[in-house]
Amino acid sequence: MVTEPLVGVLALQGDFLDHEAALQAHGLRTRQLRSAPDLVGIDALVLPGGESTTMLTLLGVEGLWGPLGEVLHTGLPVLATCAGMILLAERVENPSQRSYGLLPITVVRNGYGRQLHSGSFVLQSEVLPRGTTGTFIRAPRITAVGSDCTVLARRGDDPVLVQKGAVLAACFHPELQEDHPVTALFAAQVRARCGGAAVATTRAQALA
Ligand code: GLN
Repeated sequence: MVTEPLVGVLALQGDFLDHEAALQAHGLRTRQLRSAPDLVGIDALVLPGGESTTMLTLLGVEGLWGPLGEVLHTGLPVLATCAGMILLAERVENPSQRSYGLLPITVVRNGYGRQLHSGSFVLQSEVLPRGTTGTFIRAPRITAVGSDCTVLARRGDDPVLVQKGAVLAACFHPELQEDHPVTALFAAQVRARCGGAAVATTRAQALA
């Protein structure tokens, strides 16, 4: 029997339930992360959209800021969307705030305007199917991308989906669309990176 990779989904605030449903639809297991012990044994991580300042406050209150940072620096696959992406950015503006700095990007919070300007927009991408859309909700705008970060999709001229190593980050909300290609892309990357480990764990358990 093969154990599917386990994806930890930060569940302090925001859109974690839709991420879990989307990942489960791809056959992945999920676990809600609310405190440090929840991080043990996860194969991949999702930082959902929501409100990044509230998430920062709750990460502090729950004693999760440090432990989550340690896990992030192990290089496991990460999908960060919207507020989650803000938490990873090297530089945050409007206003500036604390972040893990894992991704060499500058983001401007609410850079596409407020709720009134939110909506779905067609993305330009060479890795996503033609016509793929992204739902932007008080989304951050990426205004600078480091040379070691790859832009996978744009909205007009703006980068909106970027990748550095195992970290994939989107300004929009793939979890709101059933079977969005970005969730599929992440699920494939998780399987590629963790599949062997998950199978090996299962074999070891079977032999124990
Ligand atoms: N505007 C939010 C922030 O700055 C992000 C919005 C979202 O995650 N949809 O944290």
